[in-house]
Amino acid sequence: MKHLLFSLLCLAFLLGSTRAHAQNPYKEFGIEIEPLTLSKGTYNEFFTNDSLVRIGSVILDTRNNRIARFVVVDTAYSEATLEPELTVRFLQPDPYAAYYPDLSPYSYAANNPLFYTDPTGKYIVIHYYDDDNGDQTFIFDGTNGSEAPDNAFVQAFMAAYNYATSNGEGTALLEAATNSDLSINLGAAVGDSYAKGDWVFWNPTQGITDGGNAPVISPAIMLEHEMDHSVDRMLNPDSHAQNQADKSSMPHARNMEEQRVMEGTEQRTARSVGEIGAGQRTRANYFSAHPVMTTGSTSTIIDRRASYMYWKNRYNQRKRQGLSTAWEEANMKRYKN
Ligand SMILES: [Zn+2]
Repeated sequence: MKHLLFSLLCLAFLLGSTRAHAQNPYKEFGIEIEPLTLSKGTYNEFFTNDSLVRIGSVILDTRNNRIARFVVVDTAYSEATLEPELTVRFLQPDPYAAYYPDLSPYSYAANNPLFYTDPTGKYIVIHYYDDDNGDQTFIFDGTNGSEAPDNAFVQAFMAAYNYATSNGEGTALLEAATNSDLSINLGAAVGDSYAKGDWVFWNPTQGITDGGNAPVISPAIMLEHEMDHSVDRMLNPDSHAQNQADKSSMPHARNMEEQRVMEGTEQRTARSVGEIGAGQRTRANYFSAHPVMTTGSTSTIIDRRASYMYWKNRYNQRKRQGLSTAWEEANMKRYKN
């Protein structure tokens, strides 16, 4: 702005360099005033460039309809100052702004478009790494499964989705994929599966079991379980928060939200695909089950080697932290050999 003012000043002096009598543009209207000019009326001060108009990045001279010059845009400068004609922003608040109280309602993809994508604002956005370790996404809307990339994580999800929804259950997965008001990100969990915010992190080979002769519950049912948390958080934010704070479910579940999911879609979906019989449960209660590694995302067969490694890692981690290792040690021994 300083620079522009200085340019205009120079221009004014250049153009007005011929001595002229004091100008008064209002004289023809019969008004006698002393014009406020920089030279106190000594020079003609006018701006001839009013015939130049800017159209996009072109300055057009309207007297001869020729391009006078091009607007040179310093992108480094404009990106830092967010010139509206050069940056793209939402013109209305994000309809999901209520779910992200810590973000500006006008920001796109949490201001991190290189990592997050929100191309449709809905459906399940599956994040995965391609063979070159590059971030990729596949947006699943419940109908485009045939277009899913040939990637182990995406295919594990597709198998789990088709399996869980095959007999009319898996309703949270179905809702997440097909409800155009919902946008849920799915990423691969390194350890245990969990839901956080609008993300579900899922371990495609981790199920649960109460041990002994109790049924093994597949990773697909655990995916449905986590999806239910995420969907409920978005569709019923008030009751979801209440259920999370409600600990009256103890000692059977961590809170009412866990109880709701465990007693609801977890039992129904597991039963619909035959993982539990009519009188059986996925687990006696929320705390009775332990994670177990399976041979696939829809499998109820325990991968003993992988399960042993999982519990060995947990055992060592607990030991390093100086915490009680009894539970980890028991499970580690359970899957040894
Ligand atoms: Zn849960």
